[in-house]
Amino acid sequence: MPLTGPSLGHLRILLVEDSPEDAELMCEQMLEAGLEASFERVETSAELREALLRFAPDIVLSDLAMPGFSGNQALEIVRGWHPDVPFIFVSGTIGEENAVAALHQGANDYIIKHQPARLPSAVARAVRESRGTIDRQRVEAELMRAQRLESLSLLAAGLSHDLRNILQPLLIMPELLKARTDDPHLHHLADVIAECGRRGHEMAESMLSFVRGSRNPSERIQIAHLFEAMELLLRSNLPPKVSLHLEVAEPTLAVDANYTELQQVLLNLALNAIQAMPSGGRLSLRAFGERDLQGQEWLHLSVADEGVGMNAEVLSHLFNPFFTTKPNGTGLGLVSCKRIIEGAQGSIRVDSSPGVGTRFDLLLPMRALPAEVAPLELPVAAGTGQSILVVDGEATRLSLLGNALSSQGYHLQLASDGGAALRWMQQEAMPALVIADAGAKLLSASHLLREMAALGYRGPALVLEEADVTVSRARFPAGISVHVLRKPLEMQQVFRSVAEALAG
Ligand code: ADP
Ligand code: MG
Repeated sequence: MPLTGPSLGHLRILLVEDSPEDAELMCEQMLEAGLEASFERVETSAELREALLRFAPDIVLSDLAMPGFSGNQALEIVRGWHPDVPFIFVSGTIGEENAVAALHQGANDYIIKHQPARLPSAVARAVRESRGTIDRQRVEAELMRAQRLESLSLLAAGLSHDLRNILQPLLIMPELLKARTDDPHLHHLADVIAECGRRGHEMAESMLSFVRGSRNPSERIQIAHLFEAMELLLRSNLPPKVSLHLEVAEPTLAVDANYTELQQVLLNLALNAIQAMPSGGRLSLRAFGERDLQGQEWLHLSVADEGVGMNAEVLSHLFNPFFTTKPNGTGLGLVSCKRIIEGAQGSIRVDSSPGVGTRFDLLLPMRALPAEVAPLELPVAAGTGQSILVVDGEATRLSLLGNALSSQGYHLQLASDGGAALRWMQQEAMPALVIADAGAKLLSASHLLREMAALGYRGPALVLEEADVTVSRARFPAGISVHVLRKPLEMQQVFRSVAEALAG
């Protein structure tokens, strides 16, 4: 009987068999059926151990009972050496109970001697299955590693961003401290703090740029090629009852994306689908082109299974990092899919019903869209000496604001209460902008602004509002255009608002 299926290559087959004639017969059967193989025969535990190391068999065929040695002992030794090497009992007398016991013990199959038509195909199947398991484990381990790395870089990006914000005061405050004292010892301490802040800031910066730098470049990907690779990867790893169907609508279908990332996305989804079908079913991957109403062309990819599906509870947590319903799950697969797809300006959607199956739909722009303009990190418009009057009862924030805005090229006048601000306005000059804290002592911001309007001030004002108290807009004077900024303050936001208020 000729063997079907792709070639297994050259196999090393180890026979545990006390009868040389029986062994000879089995070898002939396998060679005649078209297996390419070399054979060794052993009949004691010592010989078996030695052959496992030296011969490193792809599969072990063992008799059940031999003088002084048993098939069960052989199985135990083989499993101890390599848990994934297939092991088949071949016996003249195997009964139903023995067969069941053998499978329980971890044998892959059993075959009755002298009825050997099954032998070659059983060997081929056992080798294929074990290779499939090993490949699948390798792909899974590789995917898990990729998912961990992916989430690590997410974490690092978030962390370094927060760190930069936290460290910001450390860059500004030491200068303010030094301005308040002549004590050389305190000056030295302030310098030490500033230096630490600067180094921390640098570290956060370089961590962020490292993470950003690891973003992978785009290339033109032929979907037909991608699907061929997917088929190769998946086909050999499919559990027996899962069937694979791939369909590319047009052979020329292509997309601008990163190949490795896109392949990782499809593998994550396909693996989830396979894991969702423990009792088998269809796994379908489809690709086709779509055009939206704006004429933009999209690549539509779908990964569908006939598995257990998901209830509303699972669906609602699906894209949360570390959410998993599997004992060995990472809960990172879908998070990284989403991040990759959205990073390529696409979108990911899921349809699922319990007991019926699940379909993930991905939409990717066929041609990379012009990158969204990143929000500017630097001040939009640096000052050109415009004077700004800051009224704030909180000394730290007053100094911080003053210092930060001076560094942007504005000319600052600081007042710690409304009275001082009004006096300065009356005696010195009208500023180009007033920044007032809503909770300024003695005078409320709206009251203060009305007093300023009465003195003839017609410039803009920026009112700093508490996070939990909304200032009543109605009580601001009509002649002053008021912008409101909510606390806690973020310096870049302050710079932007100042520039906008001055421009408007
Ligand atoms: P993991 O596979 O490690 O659990 P994922 O982020 O890939 O992590 O998936 C998260 C969870 O989403 C899974 O544990 C599972 O409950 C659910 N899930 C994902 N894909 C499917 C699917 N095709 N069918 C059913 N459930 C799924
Ligand atoms: Mg997964």
